[in-house]
Amino acid sequence: MKSPDQAVLEAIQAKGHILLTTHYNPDGDALGSLLGLTEILEGMNKLVLGYLDGPVPPLYRFLPGCAQIQTDIEKIRDFVTQAKDDILTICLDCGDEKRLGKNSLELMSFRPIMVIDHHQGNSGFGDGAWVEPHRSSTGEMIFDLAEALGAEISPRAAECLYTAISTDTGSFRYESTSAHTFAVAGELVRLGVRPEIIANNLYDNYSLGRLRLMQEVLASLEMHGKDRIAIIKVTQKMLARTFTTMEDTEHFINFPRAVRSVRVAVFIKEVAPDVVSVSLRAKGQCDVSLVAAQFGGGGHRNASGFRVKGQGLEAVRDALLPLLLQETRS
Ligand code: 5GP
Ligand code: MN
Repeated sequence: MKSPDQAVLEAIQAKGHILLTTHYNPDGDALGSLLGLTEILEGMNKLVLGYLDGPVPPLYRFLPGCAQIQTDIEKIRDFVTQAKDDILTICLDCGDEKRLGKNSLELMSFRPIMVIDHHQGNSGFGDGAWVEPHRSSTGEMIFDLAEALGAEISPRAAECLYTAISTDTGSFRYESTSAHTFAVAGELVRLGVRPEIIANNLYDNYSLGRLRLMQEVLASLEMHGKDRIAIIKVTQKMLARTFTTMEDTEHFINFPRAVRSVRVAVFIKEVAPDVVSVSLRAKGQCDVSLVAAQFGGGGHRNASGFRVKGQGLEAVRDALLPLLLQETRS
């Protein structure tokens, strides 16, 4: 493990205004890192603004500080204008500037930009970057950053970072979970985190509609290639019937992934009438980031994804299946 990049540390120390952002469709690591770092930097008397392309998903609204996140680019523009030269932008948990969302070009004009990330295929964007693909989560890196800065981690920040780490490791189960990950999590508990409260917020707090949606999504299951490939789907109609949103599908992919014979689990989502988003999860030696890359996406070896426009669910499945059969052949 490396310590935080010197350029990132110096940039933070030098600036009084800090704009934080992360990828659209933010997950627990994206939000936990953004909110945890907000709290840490505010503790250093910085003026901090967090920007997100879209509202905070309901699942994560228990995180302290999430109501302060801005989704209005005008507010960000004002903040940057007021800061004059005293501004630093930090992109968190984001492997590629396009994943910053619809305002990515404007966000990229708020320089300098530092990137803190753990994605394998990080494109190398930004004026400086601290990228460590072997890390469990960006949240784990933010903990080390706070230590390197000599900054205090408040109980609120600890809660955010613990959420980031525990969600991105699948509750400390994925390969990226290291001794250091546990050491950081242990320290966060010492700082006041109650793991059972966070787990309750994340995993025992769903609507009945989500369970009904799960029934429909699991009913769509298809198995291929000697039961090594499992595919599930969600359509806009399923969401409408169960009064749910796409955010309610979080974690569904873990059900097909959990089947003994399955090496690759696929979740094909109709996110809009003409837009399909695909999540891929692999176990063992399969590398789904290579498959995602062939469709213009990316991610990690064991968890990746991509998005396509202008094709239906079935067409995307048909294009994907031969590549997956190849990947799971041996
Ligand atoms: P999820 O399936 O949870 O949406 O995404 C899993 C991982 O795949 C994410 O952490 C991210 O690294 C990657 N990923 C998902 N969708 C995309 C995409 O459209 N483009 C890229 N580059 N990566 C993606
Ligand atoms: Mn992450």
